Amino acid sequence: MIGRTISPSEATDFQFCQKFWYNRRHLCMIPQKIGYKELAAMMGQTVGWMYDLHIRQEPFDGIEYFTTNLEAQLACGRQYDYNGVEEYVPKVKQLILNHFKSLCESEPRWLGDGKIIASEPVMAMWGNSRQDLVIELPSGKGMVVDIKCKLKADSPKFATSRDIDLNGNQAQMYPLAWNSLNLPLKIKVMRFVYLQDGREPIIEDTIINIKRTERWLQAYHNVVGQINILEAHPESMANRITENPYHITPWGYPCEYLNYCMQGENPQGALGEFIQIQRVRT
Ligand code: SF4
Repeated sequence: MIGRTISPSEATDFQFCQKFWYNRRHLCMIPQKIGYKELAAMMGQTVGWMYDLHIRQEPFDGIEYFTTNLEAQLACGRQYDYNGVEEYVPKVKQLILNHFKSLCESEPRWLGDGKIIASEPVMAMWGNSRQDLVIELPSGKGMVVDIKCKLKADSPKFATSRDIDLNGNQAQMYPLAWNSLNLPLKIKVMRFVYLQDGREPIIEDTIINIKRTERWLQAYHNVVGQINILEAHPESMANRITENPYHITPWGYPCEYLNYCMQGENPQGALGEFIQIQRVRT
């Protein structure tokens, strides 16, 4: 592989819209506003971190971890969005505790007789991407478990996000990344555990489809090649990327760069709506 390595999620950004990838991954523009989506992402990250330390039998304080992350975001110049986001933060802290408890209590359902052999393994050749858990099943086959923390039970977007999880390329790209490491354990199943407040977790499996993964692997390498060619000529990159013509995310929301792009990428718009945080390249 030439150039830098790229994670499946970065490749997916590029496939959704090259300009989206350019804005987020090259210009490193992230929305100034912290909304429910960002809180949900931080909550999921926190619960995954807690569970990782829990199985390593190391001490952890999830609320402190979440609070520190949130304060670091605010210190970068980000602000809460208007519609009750700040007031919702205590609820998120309670949800973190509830989800972690639910994850532990439901272990017999989602782990069964399986054995956890890796937690948050970092795959350097795949842009340092991580999987939540890798499990060896009694059959000797492997399974990836992806933990999803929901802000609300019965969210109207749940059906859409479930379909994206089960049928989208990321469900298969992460097992594909693991399988490319030539380890004896081969991933055959991707399991999603949806944690919902006040409800039993929903567990959904998708079987890894060899033909699909071969196709995605080819598409992934095409994307890696395109990104590395673009990055070799940064001065002309902005003129060589394409746009998604609809500007709507797969979840049905307007793209976060909608105003900026539709207003001709006015630098004033960028200053007003986004902050820039340089990422460490791999
Ligand atoms: S608004 Fe449209 S063109 Fe701009 S980044 Fe989003 S999807 Fe791409």
